[in-house]
Amino acid sequence: MFVRTLLLNCGPMVHFSSADALSPPNYENTVSPIGKGIIIEKDRIIKIGESSELESEYGTQSGHRIIDLNGRAIIPGLIDAHSHLLWSGDRSQEVRWRLEGKSYRDIGAMGGGIQSTVNSTRQASTEHLHQEGYIRLREALRSGTTHMEVKSGYGLDTETELKLLDVISRLGSDGDLPSLDPTWMGAHDVPHGMNHGDYMDALMGEQLPAIVEQGIARSADVFCEPGWFSLENSEDILRASRSSGLELRMHIDEFESSGGGALAAELKVQTADHAYHTPLDERLNMKDAGVLTGFLPGTPYAMGDTWPNMDQIHTHNIPYTLATDFNPNCQTLSLPFIASLMVQRCKVQPLEVLAAMTVTAAQSTPHPNGEHGIIKEGGLANLNILDSPHWESFCLKPSHSPFSATVLNGSFIAH
Ligand SMILES: [Zn+2]
Repeated sequence: MFVRTLLLNCGPMVHFSSADALSPPNYENTVSPIGKGIIIEKDRIIKIGESSELESEYGTQSGHRIIDLNGRAIIPGLIDAHSHLLWSGDRSQEVRWRLEGKSYRDIGAMGGGIQSTVNSTRQASTEHLHQEGYIRLREALRSGTTHMEVKSGYGLDTETELKLLDVISRLGSDGDLPSLDPTWMGAHDVPHGMNHGDYMDALMGEQLPAIVEQGIARSADVFCEPGWFSLENSEDILRASRSSGLELRMHIDEFESSGGGALAAELKVQTADHAYHTPLDERLNMKDAGVLTGFLPGTPYAMGDTWPNMDQIHTHNIPYTLATDFNPNCQTLSLPFIASLMVQRCKVQPLEVLAAMTVTAAQSTPHPNGEHGIIKEGGLANLNILDSPHWESFCLKPSHSPFSATVLNGSFIAH
């Protein structure tokens, strides 16, 4: 066991420690020149300085692990601010039905869609779900994710929602895996065989109290779309959740504009995600209310839809995060792939993309042990070492991980 880890001869380092996360980051104030070193003790960065000086101060002491980065670039640990990590089953055959023109509803009527995942997840044992989650989180870590928001929502009954959150809690406390930010999303859909009113009663009267008593979920999330949970339903669930001590998140305007942005602003939720069809006035209200927008470009990539309108986002300086939305229809756990979509298809600058999955993502997906999404003295030692002298390479390898190593809570993990 090493007392300290010394990372020496770093290449350019994107640290975000002096950037205003709600503004476009300033390059000069955000990227350190080459030649820095980092000293890590336990799970913290205790010192950043000139590599040669740190080497002469610490390098001769025993019990230190010294790693020469040889000019490789460094970026913060990536934060996946929206995922549905845990579910069981396999709906791969649905891709053929979608290409034949079948809608989300048609596929549901054919026995596919979310209800198929719900059935498999209800039947899965805790051990099986844990194993699936473990494999997925190892994959995410390989792609540089050090922290992930994870929603329940494939149980849609109290017993299975509690089971999912229990597995999320176990996975999140495994020090070899990315840490997790648990969210209850019982309002993901209405289960088959139950009418909408009865499920609303079950959510408010039974599921929410049980989730609060279990004490694992930090936030509640609602699928606020016409045909799923209306504005009124969403407001009822969110207000009750807030009264019970939960933070709030929303899924809005994925299929059409339906007022979700206005409700997100009114309730000052932490983040309102998807938000592809949100009108400008609602975006501006969200910005004024301090509500982040979470863009999930893996979903339009997988479903063949259009990308978010980034011109409007840039013109009005709308703060946003980027995440994978990992789910049965969008099975990517790679934030570098999401970054590639934004940079190589949507023409967004790599520094802005990186901020959206690090320093800004930390605002909606905080770490329980301290500051993350940045590289600074006193902050958590969560960072990625690129297999390149250029930090920009993080978004240029969509097919495989751009990282040679990840530091996770102070532990150096060579890939
Ligand atoms: Zn989602």
